[in-house]
Amino acid sequence: MRRWNGWGAIGAAERVPDEALRLLAAAIGPGRPRPDATFEDVVAAVPASRLDGESGLSTEPADRVRHARGQSLPDWIALRSGRLPWLPDAVARPASEDDVMAVFAVAQRADAVVIPYGGGTSVVGGVTLAAGDPLPAITLATEALAGLQDLDEESGLATFGAGTLGPDLEAALQPHGLILGHFPQSWERATVGGWVAARSVGQQSIGFGRIDELFAGGRLVAPAGTLEMPPFPASAAGPDLRQLILGSEGRFGVVTEAILRTVPRPPREAVPAWFLPDWSRALVAAREMARSGLPLSMARVSTPAETESLLALGGRPGRVRALRAWLRVRGVGPEPSLLLVAASGTEKLVELAVREVGSIVRRHGGTRVGGSLGRQWLGNRFRTPNLRDALWDAGYAIDTLESAVDWSRIGALAKGVQGALATGLEAEGERVHVFGHLSHLYPSGSSLYVTYVFRLADDPDATRERWRRLKTAASEAIVAGGGTISHQHGVGRDHAPYLALEKGPLGMAVLDDVARRFDPDRRMNPGALLEMDAS
Ligand SMILES: Cc1cc2nc3c(=O)[nH]c(=O)nc-3n(C[C@H](O)[C@H](O)[C@H](O)COP(=O)(O)OP(=O)(O)OC[C@H]3O[C@@H](n4cnc5c(N)ncnc54)[C@H](O)[C@@H]3O)c2cc1C
Repeated sequence: MRRWNGWGAIGAAERVPDEALRLLAAAIGPGRPRPDATFEDVVAAVPASRLDGESGLSTEPADRVRHARGQSLPDWIALRSGRLPWLPDAVARPASEDDVMAVFAVAQRADAVVIPYGGGTSVVGGVTLAAGDPLPAITLATEALAGLQDLDEESGLATFGAGTLGPDLEAALQPHGLILGHFPQSWERATVGGWVAARSVGQQSIGFGRIDELFAGGRLVAPAGTLEMPPFPASAAGPDLRQLILGSEGRFGVVTEAILRTVPRPPREAVPAWFLPDWSRALVAAREMARSGLPLSMARVSTPAETESLLALGGRPGRVRALRAWLRVRGVGPEPSLLLVAASGTEKLVELAVREVGSIVRRHGGTRVGGSLGRQWLGNRFRTPNLRDALWDAGYAIDTLESAVDWSRIGALAKGVQGALATGLEAEGERVHVFGHLSHLYPSGSSLYVTYVFRLADDPDATRERWRRLKTAASEAIVAGGGTISHQHGVGRDHAPYLALEKGPLGMAVLDDVARRFDPDRRMNPGALLEMDAS
């Protein structure tokens, strides 16, 4: 059974390898485990619902607690400590578009707001209102709007209900020899509707595409009506409304179904690994790869600090020592950057792509490592988030953030963001362990993905304050470095204060007008995406 206050299944927490704990203790000090609140205690303290008696809603305290938060670090702090100053008053589970409209009608009658909820994996405060919000809230869970509804095999277009989870989607396509290939790290728990609403990006986005390329059309049910988006392969008929719905984060209405572009399952997939001598040469090699037009599906380039952390997390110190010695002999080190590449397609295409990446890497002094590094990454990619649970249990908070910028500024952005985080808690004498990688390469630039780890404070509010300081410092560094406030996680409430800096006043006014057109009474997910109140 899934944990109510973390990521993995109950009892499935990974162990943090001793090597990684030693690295963390040396970098930022020993962890400070804190006691967790129990589910029973939290449920017992849930206040009465303001929507008791409304039809079609669950007001069960346990249901409300399970839908009270997403997966951001502040969400975790709230859940682990049991301090939940805001909870939805009710949970709705519509099974049809008529049911969705019935929820809107209840919200209208009861003067309540509606928060669409897919898998609840938002890491930016997408499914949680601020404490003290005056209106009752209905969390609209899309789990009953799920499954494959239609498949046009000739066109590769598959229509899925919004609440379909990643594994169920691929399982439904498999008998037809098709694959969507959208694999965000949260794939096991995130939904089609959440991907569309938060504009998500899968790990193999170079090959299979981002959700904004895979989303061919679908339906959005809003308080003001229903928007149908036909799946044209391309269209010059004015601005593309599909692009407007992508990233709308529940502000415009509920995405009830999505028509997705699938492809035949590639016959072969390879995930080779290389090491480059240092970060600056890794950046140049990454840029060349991105501009080469090679048929890659993924390229991930780790900073030396991330490379070291990944090797420590592998938990095989003997092997790591041997690897380091071997790299030294090959002229790589002492601060190597790990490059993981995935190539998917026919045997010939995969071979060609791997050979060409090899020659780019060699030109920059890198070397390929045999063995299982790449396969290990592929096998563990959805298990890694379980480490968040294990690190928390060991007394450490871990969070991630991301941005994207052009190649000419990516080096400075990486330095600025990681520097801001590393020094962000100096005032209280705490250190922060920071590492990052380029996760998605584009011809003109790259995304940057940064992980940071710091110690839990004695009091949950103080831990939250540490997070706030670090998040603010990193967000300001992103803005100063010319990066977008989000490459893939979306805006939610945590990034909303920075959105106007990249959209500008006119852009924000346009988005606000659109939100008003879909949702005249401002009942949909107030505060997410657009920092406006619900009035
Ligand atoms: C461990 C971990 C790893 C992650 N890795 C990635 C990654 O690799 N790439 C990436 O892009 N993201 C990643 N994320 C972020 C998150 O998983 C994505 O944003 C995902 O798309 C959210 O899907 P969800 O179904 O969980 O949506 P939710 O979290 O439930 O909702 C997200 C937002 O969309 C709205 N929404 C949800 N469903 C609908 C709907 N049907 N109609 C209208 N609005 C809706 C919600 O109101 C909210 O604003 C990760 C998160 C975690 C916790």
